[in-house]
Amino acid sequence: NKFVFVTGGVMSGLGKGITAASTGRLLANAGFDVTAVKIDPYLNVDAGTMNPYQHGEVYVLKDGGEVDLDLGNYERFLDVDMTFDHNVTTGKVYKEVIENERAGDYLGKTVQIIPHITDDIKRRIREAAEGSDVCLIEVGGTVGDIEGMPYLEALRQFAHEEDEEDILFVHVTLVPYSKNGEQKTKPTQHSVKELRSIGLQPDVLVGRSEDRLDPETREKIALFCDVPTDAVFSNPDVEDIYHVPLMVEEEGLDEYVMERLNLAADALPHSER
Ligand code: ADP
Repeated sequence: NKFVFVTGGVMSGLGKGITAASTGRLLANAGFDVTAVKIDPYLNVDAGTMNPYQHGEVYVLKDGGEVDLDLGNYERFLDVDMTFDHNVTTGKVYKEVIENERAGDYLGKTVQIIPHITDDIKRRIREAAEGSDVCLIEVGGTVGDIEGMPYLEALRQFAHEEDEEDILFVHVTLVPYSKNGEQKTKPTQHSVKELRSIGLQPDVLVGRSEDRLDPETREKIALFCDVPTDAVFSNPDVEDIYHVPLMVEEEGLDEYVMERLNLAADALPHSER
C-alpha cells in the first residue's frame, strides 16, 4: 500500500478534496487501484445529524453510511464505491475507544490520546486502504486546528512506521494576491512552519490561487518550505471542478506523485490511460 496524505493550510474550503480526488483520478487512469479516506475532525459521529445549510447535503453511501459531501466527490472522481469506514470522525474514534475502555479491553491502563486515540486512527486508515494500491487520506480542516492535532500526530507516527517510499505528504495552501497584484507566499510559509513544528515535512505543495503560480513564487515557496521547486504545483481557479484533473495532469502532479512513490515503472503508458 502507498499512502498520500493531504493536509490544508491557511483556510478551509480551499479545494483540498478536489485536488486529492483529481490526483486520485489520474493515478487510477495510470492503472492503479485508488481509494480514499476522509478525516473529519468534528465530534459528530457522522454527518447524519448535521444541518445541511452549514455542511451541504448529507451524502449517503451504499452501505447506508451518512457522510460528508466530500465522499461523493471521491466516489465520482475515482469511480469507486466507498463505505462508512472511509469516513473517520473524531466522534467515531472516541466512541470506539471509550467503548473499549468500558469493556475493560485496556486492562487497567490509563487511556490516553497517545497512544490509544492515535492507534485507533492509524488502524482505521490501514483497514480502509486494504486492497488498494494507493490510498489518499484527506485531513479536513486546517493545520493548526486543535481538533486536527491527534490526526496529525497519528500521521507522524504512521510515516515513522511505514517505508519512506510508501508515504507522501501533500499540503494544499492558499496563495493570495496583494493589492498590487503580487502573489504572497507568507501564509504558506506559516502553515508549513506549523506542520514542521509537529514533525511533519510536506513533500509536495499545491498553491490554490486565482492564476498559476509565477516562477518566482514557486521558487520562494520551495526555498522557505524546503522542497524542490518541481514539488511546488499550481491549482488555479477553474470554472468547472471537473477540469481540475486536466489541470493537475498538465502541471504534472500525478507524474511527480508516482515518481516519489516509486510507482512510475508500473504505470500504464500514456497511450493506454
Ligand atoms: P476543502 O477540501 O479544502 O474544504 P473542497 O475540495 O471541498 O475544499 O473545495 C471547496 C470548494 O472550492 C468547492 O466548492 C469546490 O468546488 C471549489 N474548488 C476546488 N478547487 C477549485 C478550483 N481549482 N477552481 C475553482 N473552484 C474550486
